[in-house]
Amino acid sequence: MLEFDDAQTRLANGAPRPSATIDAPLSAAIGLVLAQDLTATLDLPPADNSAMDGYALRHADYREGATLPIDQIVYAGHAPQALQPGHAARLFTGSLMPPGADTVVMQEDTREADGRLTITQAPRPGQHVRRRGEDTAAGSALLPAGTRIGPAQVALLASQGIARVTVHPAVRVGILTTGDELVPPGQPRGAHQIYNSNGPMMAALVEGMSAQATHVLHAQDNEAALKSAFQTLARDCDLIVSIGGVSVGDKDLVKPVLESMGASLDLWRVRMKPGKPVAMAHVDGKPVVCLPGNPVSAFAVFTVLVSPLLRRMQGRRDLFPQVSMLTLRTDAPRHDSREEFLRVRRDVNNGGVGELQAFDRQSSGVVSSLPWATGLARIPAGHTVYDGEKVAYYDFKHWLS
Ligand code: AMP
Ligand code: MG
Repeated sequence: MLEFDDAQTRLANGAPRPSATIDAPLSAAIGLVLAQDLTATLDLPPADNSAMDGYALRHADYREGATLPIDQIVYAGHAPQALQPGHAARLFTGSLMPPGADTVVMQEDTREADGRLTITQAPRPGQHVRRRGEDTAAGSALLPAGTRIGPAQVALLASQGIARVTVHPAVRVGILTTGDELVPPGQPRGAHQIYNSNGPMMAALVEGMSAQATHVLHAQDNEAALKSAFQTLARDCDLIVSIGGVSVGDKDLVKPVLESMGASLDLWRVRMKPGKPVAMAHVDGKPVVCLPGNPVSAFAVFTVLVSPLLRRMQGRRDLFPQVSMLTLRTDAPRHDSREEFLRVRRDVNNGGVGELQAFDRQSSGVVSSLPWATGLARIPAGHTVYDGEKVAYYDFKHWLS
């Protein structure tokens, strides 16, 4: 038996970081990972400008009760003239400060009549001015290599005028489900059959992490079908994920088939629940991860064991998302000789504090626990955890992104 933490580390290190890069427009780079450190080339904002709709003046010209003639109106996107001494300029949020002006009074603190301004509230020197470079200074670090591009990164890059980036191409993942009992959703089902939920589920998990589900294949439980599917996936994909057929039953043929293809299996039984049988192999240099067939097991094992490996292949900096300690609410004490990952839901109690509620049926066949759960709570092997104790919480929104 392999301890969970060892399995996690070994899997995460089971594939190289990416070397291939592509040059992509920002819109096509969403979800992909920067292959280079980016540095700001622009001061942002590029010039001092107003943070308010109001009036610009020299602070030294302010006198209580005095009125200042207005010498210009500056709209955002228009160039200002130098401010004449003793004058004010009308301007708006984002308008450039006229040379000479150093302070903005907001409209609400003024009266304007006959082209003259009266200020009703004494201004602080320099107030409501956004200074050149106060957001980002030219030459400062913008984003490091290994950053996944999302909406926030797009905003920052676009603000620098960057339209294209060098990123790693999407990891191509080949998915293989196995089993004579399975039919694809949408097709008629015989009484002896069940629908294949793992294939669509795994494709969604992979795409949710911005990798590409290049093939979603299914093989019956025979060696020829499995071998031909693995060959297709090894040809077209960077990472192969197979599901089912990896235990010790008569029809569990994944291991012998991979071995017949010259693969050596790197690990076999992980001390975790759900999901004891997990294997890793390499076929033609491509990493292959073999997950248990129960949909809940496959989902949980993908979350905590496979996602760090995928992040590494994507070139991301952080392979292991945050794990937080939260109070577990459970009807009965929890204990197992394996590391157990309970399907839990993070709720907020009456005091506004987050706590975890365990799903009432924790069997690895209970697919209905998945949409209900927000994450997994880890019960350490050999420990009894009672209601109200703190446990490690793996939030799906972090671990599956
Ligand atoms: P296995 O690991 O192949 O022995 O499968 C374990 C359990 O998961 C069995 O009850 C299978 O019917 C079920 N199972 C395996 N693959 C799938 C799948 N793709 N979709 C739904 N259930 C599956
Ligand atoms: Mg099977």
